[in-house]
Amino acid sequence: MGKDIIVLDALTYEYRKEDEEQPVKALDGVSLSVAEGSFTAVLGKNGSGKSTLAKNINALLLPSGGAVYVDGFNTADEAHVWEIRQRAGMVFQNPDNQLVSAIVEDDVAFGPENLGVATEEIKLRIERSLKSVGMYEFRKKGPHMLSGGQKQRVAIAGVIAMRPKCVIFDEPTAMLDPKGREEVMDVIRMLHGEGVTIVLITHFMEEAVHADRVVILDDGRVALDGTPEEVFLEMEAIREMALDAPLVVELADRLRRRGWDVPPVIKMEEMVEYLCR
Ligand code: ADP
Repeated sequence: MGKDIIVLDALTYEYRKEDEEQPVKALDGVSLSVAEGSFTAVLGKNGSGKSTLAKNINALLLPSGGAVYVDGFNTADEAHVWEIRQRAGMVFQNPDNQLVSAIVEDDVAFGPENLGVATEEIKLRIERSLKSVGMYEFRKKGPHMLSGGQKQRVAIAGVIAMRPKCVIFDEPTAMLDPKGREEVMDVIRMLHGEGVTIVLITHFMEEAVHADRVVILDDGRVALDGTPEEVFLEMEAIREMALDAPLVVELADRLRRRGWDVPPVIKMEEMVEYLCR
């Protein structure tokens, strides 16, 4: 694993509304470092601060306290906002809000154009990034003709055309059907395999088992942080935070209570392997 590409140093974030005296503290002293090339899943119930965390990494929000560094750049330093957004791309929940052009390939070109990439190079990047998400044959189509999963893959192509070192996915599959979810997860795993650092915010536990690190936020603080195996074995803590463990972990837990000696499995294949032995 390489150096830390994202460093959150005691990050606190408060939403302030003019008409309300009390600010809402969405993040409360979060310290986390994300190693280059790693795959971190961030979980937590609604309102735990996941989206606020993502937006702070991308400099869409700036810390109320503490600091955020992306590839060494302090997000509070306005002069570097484009360096930061180019390095840490972001994919949001709703694909419709992310596609801005009437034609797929124009959409993918949008980011690199804003970065001032040369026209010939942009053409190459459109081709490569659309091919890598399996959407090249749709390059002349209008986004309205695509399924949710396809739109989300085009949105991802637009982000990877900027050659980010890191991509933050903020519940990218929440609005998709199971097929769309699978398509998007395949693309995320492919990017990770190519060395892109992944931060995946999700409420699907099944998606988090693919990560090499799981961070659970609760009430604006880091409640659990470790490998998926370590975190998902904390069944009590997970239940107390009103979260469900992945199905396989629940099953293993119930079998253990019936006296079975089940090893710490988190993936379906591992459970099948164990049961068939
Ligand atoms: P999550 O993504 O885990 O659902 P959020 O980061 O969206 O959590 O929200 C964390 C807390 O901040 C919640 O209490 C939420 O109500 C509050 N919050 C989020 N966005 C705003 C906003 N624009 N104005 C005021 N409070 C907000």
